[in-house]
Amino acid sequence: MEPSTLLPDHGTSAWHNMNEATLFDAHRSDLKSGLSSEVANQRLKEFGSNELPEPKHRSLFAVFIKQFQSPLIYLLLIAASIAFFLNKISDAAVILTVVMLNSLIGSLQESKAERSLESLRKLAKLMVTVRRDGQEVRIEARELVPGDIFLLNAGDAVGADGRIIEARDLSVAESALTGESLPVRKSISDIPVDTILAERTNMVYSGTFVTSGRGTVIVVATGQNTEVGKIAKLTNEKQNLLTPLENKISHFGRTIIYLAAVVFFLIVGIGILRGLELSEIFMIGVSQIVSMIPEGLPVAITVALAVGVRRMAGKKAIVRKLSAVETLGSTDIICTDKTGTLTKNEMTVEALYLPSGISVDVTGVGYSPSGEFIVKGNSQNETDKDIDQLLTAGVLCNDARLIQDDKNLWKILGDPTEGALLTVAAKRGMHKEEFEKKFPRKDEIPFDSSLKLMATEHQIDGKIITWIKGAPEKILHICGTDERAHLASEKMAQRALRVLAFAKIEGPITEEIREATYNKNIVFLGLVGQMDPPRQEVRAAIEECLNAGIRPVMVTGDHKHTGQAIGKVLGIMKSGDQAIDGAELEMMSDDELEKRINHISVFARVHPDQKLRIIKTFQNKKNVVAMTGDGVNDSPALVRADVGVAMGITGTDTAKESAKIIITDDNFSTIVEAVKQGRLVYRNVKKLIIYFFTTSISELLVLFTAILLGYPPPLAAVQILWINLVTDGALTVTLIMEPEEGDEMKQRPVPREEPLIDRHFLRRMSLLSPTIALTTLGYFFYSLEMGFPFVEVQSQTFTLLAVAQWFNALNCRSDKHSVFRMSLLSNKWLIGGLLTGFLLQALVIYAPFMNKLFYTTPIAFRDVLTIGVIGSLVLWVEEIRKLVLRRKAGPAKILQS
Ligand code: ADP
Ligand code: MG
Repeated sequence: MEPSTLLPDHGTSAWHNMNEATLFDAHRSDLKSGLSSEVANQRLKEFGSNELPEPKHRSLFAVFIKQFQSPLIYLLLIAASIAFFLNKISDAAVILTVVMLNSLIGSLQESKAERSLESLRKLAKLMVTVRRDGQEVRIEARELVPGDIFLLNAGDAVGADGRIIEARDLSVAESALTGESLPVRKSISDIPVDTILAERTNMVYSGTFVTSGRGTVIVVATGQNTEVGKIAKLTNEKQNLLTPLENKISHFGRTIIYLAAVVFFLIVGIGILRGLELSEIFMIGVSQIVSMIPEGLPVAITVALAVGVRRMAGKKAIVRKLSAVETLGSTDIICTDKTGTLTKNEMTVEALYLPSGISVDVTGVGYSPSGEFIVKGNSQNETDKDIDQLLTAGVLCNDARLIQDDKNLWKILGDPTEGALLTVAAKRGMHKEEFEKKFPRKDEIPFDSSLKLMATEHQIDGKIITWIKGAPEKILHICGTDERAHLASEKMAQRALRVLAFAKIEGPITEEIREATYNKNIVFLGLVGQMDPPRQEVRAAIEECLNAGIRPVMVTGDHKHTGQAIGKVLGIMKSGDQAIDGAELEMMSDDELEKRINHISVFARVHPDQKLRIIKTFQNKKNVVAMTGDGVNDSPALVRADVGVAMGITGTDTAKESAKIIITDDNFSTIVEAVKQGRLVYRNVKKLIIYFFTTSISELLVLFTAILLGYPPPLAAVQILWINLVTDGALTVTLIMEPEEGDEMKQRPVPREEPLIDRHFLRRMSLLSPTIALTTLGYFFYSLEMGFPFVEVQSQTFTLLAVAQWFNALNCRSDKHSVFRMSLLSNKWLIGGLLTGFLLQALVIYAPFMNKLFYTTPIAFRDVLTIGVIGSLVLWVEEIRKLVLRRKAGPAKILQS
């Protein structure tokens, strides 16, 4: 094995100031062939993987300890000590046990949420292109080692620190590292030793992004030795930002604390007036506060969001920001790309147009190079030569590769638009490998979606020739071509073809090409029309959007007619809708745009900057906008949109970094699916909240009424604690696991400002809570009247209240569907929660040691049955309400009940 020792002082060297030969020597690397995989493996062991250490996740114990840092727990601890001093040792012990149990449940939930979020963060892996063993290969960025040669393209994330060996128009955004907001132009020039980091223009640094051009780099530092690694060591802290929903809930929680305090004093006051024992009434007051404070809610919301994130990951949407889950649920506009998202991005060249005015059809499908050229009209002598010339431009001005995989299937690597050009050329026996060997590339202007063209300069038979390809308007403009070519291009676009135009100039790349200005020496070579079939499943997804009150809008870089044609096929463009292009958009005032935007469903030939304007206009109209993006220039739009959606396959690292979610299959349907999951999360959170409030309000009613009417407390303080913190605690979170009800996408989006507690919510609560309270109190009064021993009366009332809450949990599973139509098995968590609650309640009633602690006594079987029946009343009442609601809504609106 060859030794991989690098320079002895590796890591401290001023790499920016070293001459190239020494640099390569120091790393025992080679520009052309890179490292051998053997050496790379050895170095990976020596230097460790190219990663920053993850902030350590908290141990279960740490999470457990954190549970104690809550006002609620302080309160209970105070109550426990007071109980202790009042010589109620068993009460104190019970309070402590309940606190422990509750904290345990809480920490299990919290650490589960934390872990599932962590594992998701790892889903989005960064890939880089390196030279290994003389080949270009894609590897994970964490496998980079010092001495690796890696290649950078516009949009790439820089995976490690490195010295630039080749640079072509290379600019890098380094703000993450240096704070400099403008991209820095890179070169390979020598710079002095004492140059500061921000000015080392011949270096690139991990954590930055290539904004344009391309480059070749030799890795000099990885992992913790990189500049970001050094910073990360200083600030190894995890920020915990709350999502709006989480914020709303904790804000809400704080308001309730005040309310609870008022209730406390009321209870204690009335209790004293009624002549109850002070210590007892104090304990009851405390338990009442406990039942009112939604201390478990914030964690439950986080769990709900985490569950949403996991469900979305299963549906190919990776969530990068937790808040995106809830925002998706309120999304009412989805601005989507066309190519690849609405269409398959499997391009096939179907038509050519030659400068002589002749059109040619090409047969064949996919990337397999078999098919024929059918010349329409009269062929001329020059036709064959013209076709060859046009396809030569397509082959040379091209970064893709056409390959056959192990199953002999033809595939492309790179941009499908370019891959299709290789296939059509191969149909004529023209192969890129041979052409590139004969006519090597000397210089280039890489494709840029704001410039909309690309050019490459080659040495051909002793002459320098530059080939240019790009959007027809651009190319026809710099060639100054006649009207016929324009017409031909429009016609192709109307057939839903994606059109590229080609040109050449005898000479090197000039400023005129760079700026796309007219140059009389540039020769027009023809047009190529490619078919990109729409994705089958998208039609249905679009219809789903429309049913769900969401408007899909196409925002494409492609030609208006192409966009329009695809839009019509897919149902995005309905009658009365308009398509406009970037130039028309430019002419429109903000007011006019705002007035018309509701009727524009296709924006074509848009410049990335214009995406931002479109988003802002929608947002001004109070819409919640999701916007897709893939390119380098899409970042501002992705950041500005309420939900930025990056493409997993074609998206650049920059786009992914700016987006809130990444869809791994680039498919529009996946966005719609994510919206559905977002709605589900919101819905389940509401189910949880209604359960929580109906429960605590009913308990309040029970106690209050009894005390007010001069009865003894129907439940002992510890029993109230038990119901709230233990049996309920086991149930609340399970509602978050409720599956879809099926009509999530048949309703309008939930407005973002909608309060969590609205009128409908209050109406439901004012039915459920009194029902529970009345049944419980009724039973209590009746048992008292019958003169049963008081322990027995309390035990039974206590159990009845617990049982009523279980039935109520079933009520909260759906707002309008009957529980009897819902499979209990569809939420296994709920069954688990009910079972746990049942067993714990049985324990408290039948275990002798619990009897002492909780002032309970075993209940006879006959009474158990009675309690079961009476406890279920709340279910029947709610079933009737649901039935009435469904009747009123009529059969058409309730699709699933
Ligand atoms: P979209 O892919 O949505 O059409 P882009 O911004 O990627 O948007 O492309 C804009 C236009 O630039 C395309 O419609 C096409 O005419 C042209 N174009 C696309 N890819 C290339 C390429 N690789 N080389 C030259 N021109 C291209
Ligand atoms: Mg594109």
